[in-house]
Amino acid sequence: MDFSWNPEHQNFRQEVRAFIEREWIAPGYGRVGGEESGGGPAATYQKALAQHGWLTMAWPKQYGGGGASYWEQLIFAEESAFASAPTGGQGADRVGPTLMIHGTEEQKREHLPKIAAGEVVWCQGFSEPGSGSDLASLQTRAVRDGDDFVINGQKIWTSGADHAQWIHVLTRTDPEAPKHRGITYFMLRMDTPGISLRPIVQMHDEAGFNETFFEDVRVPAKNMIGDENRGWYVAATALDFERSGINRMAEAVAPFQRLLAHAQQPDSAGEGRRIADHGLHRLALADTHLEMEIARLLGYRVTWMQDRHLVPNMESSMSKMAGSELQQRSARRGINMLGLAGALRPGQARAPLGGEFCVLYLSTVSRTIAAGTSEIQRNIIATRGLGLPRG
Ligand SMILES: Cc1cc2nc3c(=O)[nH]c(=O)nc-3n(C[C@H](O)[C@H](O)[C@H](O)COP(=O)(O)OP(=O)(O)OC[C@H]3O[C@@H](n4cnc5c(N)ncnc54)[C@H](O)[C@@H]3O)c2cc1C
Repeated sequence: MDFSWNPEHQNFRQEVRAFIEREWIAPGYGRVGGEESGGGPAATYQKALAQHGWLTMAWPKQYGGGGASYWEQLIFAEESAFASAPTGGQGADRVGPTLMIHGTEEQKREHLPKIAAGEVVWCQGFSEPGSGSDLASLQTRAVRDGDDFVINGQKIWTSGADHAQWIHVLTRTDPEAPKHRGITYFMLRMDTPGISLRPIVQMHDEAGFNETFFEDVRVPAKNMIGDENRGWYVAATALDFERSGINRMAEAVAPFQRLLAHAQQPDSAGEGRRIADHGLHRLALADTHLEMEIARLLGYRVTWMQDRHLVPNMESSMSKMAGSELQQRSARRGINMLGLAGALRPGQARAPLGGEFCVLYLSTVSRTIAAGTSEIQRNIIATRGLGLPRG
């Protein structure tokens, strides 16, 4: 196994770094943080990415993509996460790729160029109050009425619905069929009459989460992705795209490096002690470094498989779990090392590292839930990976 990057990859990494420095860091856009972005600086930056051909760099050229290799895509995702810069969002990373496989020619013509140009923001209406891990039990109903379907029901945890123009949504169209076989997948405009939102503020004070209500919402049948009652199998493609990616692990890197540098500075109380002088903290920093390397290699393995046209499955779950659990543990260790002051928030006087670890401690709780919980990833590893029986 060759662990080194070739000169083209190294040059490409430099090119990506220069772009991010110029378009994201220099304008002082700050940190988006997390997987979701949209609105404000993120939208401006995504337009710049689109103009540069990088918003959908890995898409085939025929669909407005850049035809980049999986490795180039990984380098781009990794560098973006190091700098907390947004990438393509849901349109680029899952809606477009899913349409390429399952969409009609008309759907591809309508949606792919707009996604590649960064003109439209998408959100995902899958989870419901009673259906998360067991997503196939979803209850939002769609009933055919002539050339339309009429949707009634409720979604929850719809990230970015407050600034999205389109939603891709799973509905139940055959309540009599076994649960996986009665689901149909639609896409519709967020300004369709009958859609309303109720925002949910997360515990780290960030908005962007929503409950999404559908009341007699009409969607044309031609907006169905895949066949009627076969939406579950199409959505599985979208979920695979959502789970793969190096970003979770890579988002932990820059905060860790800042913590490491801080740990070697004498404390501000003037007693001259450093966090790094404390034996347990030194061990915790070493643990984080080790876990980061493991998560990085698990992420690279997913790309290595894709590059060889193999389909990662258990490997994506391992990478997703390692990356998201690393984010949590790293934040938890950081806040412990920083002591009581670590709980101070950004903007508060004497907050170490600008309050970054307080925010990370709160915001990373959701990382092992989003895109399928750690328990669900472990189930996938146990059953599909190790051949163990289902519980
Ligand atoms: C940051 C974030 C962003 C999100 N964005 C979106 C979005 O844009 N669109 C969207 O549709 N959804 C979104 N979600 C929802 C997410 O997909 C669900 O929260 C997730 O699938 C878990 O479902 P749940 O919350 O209903 O928990 P539940 O499924 O009720 O799980 C509760 C607990 O039970 C455990 N559990 C459940 N089943 C099993 C099992 N079979 N074996 C072992 N343990 C089990 C779970 O691991 C968990 O610990 C988002 C969530 C988060 C945190």
